[in-house]
Amino acid sequence: MTSNDFGYLMWGRDWVRFAEPLRQTRPDPQLPRARRMARDGKVQVTIDGGIVRAVVEHGRKPSVVTIEVAPMSREAIVEISRRLSGVQLALTDELYRAITDAGHPPAPALAGVDCSCPADTSRCIHVLAVYYAMAQRVDDDPRVTLDVQGYFRTSSESAEAFTAATPRRWIALNALNPADYFVVAE
Ligand SMILES: [Zn+2]
Repeated sequence: MTSNDFGYLMWGRDWVRFAEPLRQTRPDPQLPRARRMARDGKVQVTIDGGIVRAVVEHGRKPSVVTIEVAPMSREAIVEISRRLSGVQLALTDELYRAITDAGHPPAPALAGVDCSCPADTSRCIHVLAVYYAMAQRVDDDPRVTLDVQGYFRTSSESAEAFTAATPRRWIALNALNPADYFVVAE
């Protein structure tokens, strides 16, 4: 039931999944309206570290949504930076699948969701609209979903830790032709 307008990359689809969880058998009746709000630019998103803040225009007064995203595991960060250092420089669906197959799915996890509206649910229309707005942003630039998970804040740190742990392997990664590297590593 994924809408074609959102989540056409696997990186963006993770955000659609927050609005449309696979375990949910009946579609939420709020979804078409939430999608329309995102599409019509009613959602103003700002990202501040691991916090997604959004002002959503709907009804008489705008609602403020705050979504806290859990930091990515160090293993996932190392896995992604390792794969990005070879021939692969783009955040493609292929890379997404490879990272997932390696046991470190890059899908974000939410640590907290809040909306200023009176609805007593974490799935109010405003929050759903923000998930779609994030899917749009991530489709435009998948780095956004890594950024909000702290990838760019910690990847250099992790790379250093990784270098300290296995210096020769790390150097080989950057210095060798990737074809040679994979032969050596396997
Ligand atoms: Zn709300």
